[in-house]
Amino acid sequence: MNPKCQTRGSGLRGRPMSLFGHWGVDAEGEAFMSQEVKDRVLTSTRLPSLPTIAVEVIDLVKQEDADIKQIAATIQNDPALSSKILKTVNSSFYGQAYSISTVSHALVVLGLKAVKTLALGFSLVHNLKDQGGDEFDHMNFWKRSLLGATAAKHFAEKINLPEAEEAFLGGLLRDMGVMAMSQTLGAEYQYAMQAAGSDHAKLLESENEIFETDHAEMGSALAESWKLPALLVSAIRFHADPEPADLTCRKVARCVALGSMAAEVFMVNEWGDDPAKAAALDGYRRRAEAWFGWEPEDSEAALREIHKNTGDMQRLFELPTGELGNADDILAQANEALMAISMQAVQETVQLEEQNAKLKDDVYTDPLTGANNRRKFDEYLDQQFKACAAGKSPLSVLFLDADHFKNFNDTYGHATGDRVLVSLAQTLKDVFGEKGVPCRYGGEEFAVILPNIDRKDAAKLAEAARAAIEAAPVESDEGEELHITASIGVACQEESFFKSAEQLVKAADNGVYAAKKSGRNTVRVFVPRPKKAA
Ligand code: GH3
Ligand code: MG
Ligand code: MG
Repeated sequence: MNPKCQTRGSGLRGRPMSLFGHWGVDAEGEAFMSQEVKDRVLTSTRLPSLPTIAVEVIDLVKQEDADIKQIAATIQNDPALSSKILKTVNSSFYGQAYSISTVSHALVVLGLKAVKTLALGFSLVHNLKDQGGDEFDHMNFWKRSLLGATAAKHFAEKINLPEAEEAFLGGLLRDMGVMAMSQTLGAEYQYAMQAAGSDHAKLLESENEIFETDHAEMGSALAESWKLPALLVSAIRFHADPEPADLTCRKVARCVALGSMAAEVFMVNEWGDDPAKAAALDGYRRRAEAWFGWEPEDSEAALREIHKNTGDMQRLFELPTGELGNADDILAQANEALMAISMQAVQETVQLEEQNAKLKDDVYTDPLTGANNRRKFDEYLDQQFKACAAGKSPLSVLFLDADHFKNFNDTYGHATGDRVLVSLAQTLKDVFGEKGVPCRYGGEEFAVILPNIDRKDAAKLAEAARAAIEAAPVESDEGEELHITASIGVACQEESFFKSAEQLVKAADNGVYAAKKSGRNTVRVFVPRPKKAA
């Protein structure tokens, strides 16, 4: 065996281990893989031994000076096998221009590797065909295997890997651990299969949970015991996750792994709901892009090719695979499901963004009036005060307090008072428009931040606000038209007169106090004293 194709050791649940023969023991002395399970499977008399013909072919091709005639003779010893090989090499799958009538001719035309693969494939499949036990779903198994095999070969050819034949066999035998475990572990294994349902990825999980090993390990251990080529052993071992495979084997393992995912796209069509179909196509596409840099169109074209080739292979291998279904229909359904899920994901993202925006808005909004709240006032003022200091532009602040509001509440009721506050907020919005940011400061007090508005213009706007408030009617519970007034103070930051935003606010608030003192319903503007001459 090529030692480079032995596992580098990615153990169960991340524990390091050496796979074949030398089972690791961790710090607590616990075996990494259940040795007992492994023994039960590998030494079971219920499993077939490797067919003699396969053993001979493997031995012969291993020999450096292998003689083509000798290999041809060995294969020809089995007439059923030779006729299958000839049928295969003459099929559209191999696309030969002329007919090939002898095994030795096939060996010359297709090369040793391809014929060896076919010989091994046919004899192993023939041997395994009826394994698995009574409960075993043969149709599902072989369909999945054959799809994965043709897919793996297709990928290997697409990326110009010389080991396309090994990829085919790896794909074909990748799940033989499932068969071996089902055959030898009986009811216990049926339980693992039931727990996984039709989901093949879950099967590995439930196997590990129950047996502390899985069919990938078991299949590769079986392949190893049959002395199958190292590359094949590795491809079976890493068919679910090829990344831990040694570099020399990883490309073939990736073809087998992607083949397995491609097979899933077709398999899921039988049993899956829309999310399962979408997930299978999405998973396959993503891997194809990550490993081979394929665009979705490339990976879809590959699926069509695989479907067609599998049809040919079905006839040659004479396996109980059942119907493959129509490729166009299957891919259309999978694409539709994926599209629907992507749309749903987009909608969910938009909804989430809207919710977040609303939550953000809520943080800055006064629930009664819908105006900005005190928090918004503080943050916005701070920001504008800094900006105005940097840009030397003016910044005005207007403070407003409803007159005799306690009285108003006492006379007309709190609910009418609330309506006044709502109306006040609306009037401020209407008066200031784009020019200012009105906020409910607290109670019956409002404040307006006026960036880039100088004192004179702020005073005019304040007067407009006062008049508008006075004019705005509010209905009492009895339908009576009521009016309210407000006292307003204005201060403006010009030429960096105020050292802080708090000083500016205080000055505007003092303006309100002055307005109240001078009889209410009026505006008072803070004017800084001229600096004394030095
Ligand atoms: P002045 O003209 O001096 O400002 O007198 P005033 O009565 O408006 O001032 P005072 O501070 O004595 O009373 C404020 C009133 O505002 C008392 C309180 O019940 C009322 N008030 C504060 N928040 C709300 C509210 O959310 N809804 C209602 N309806 N009333 C509120
Ligand atoms: Mg007040
Ligand atoms: Mg008041």
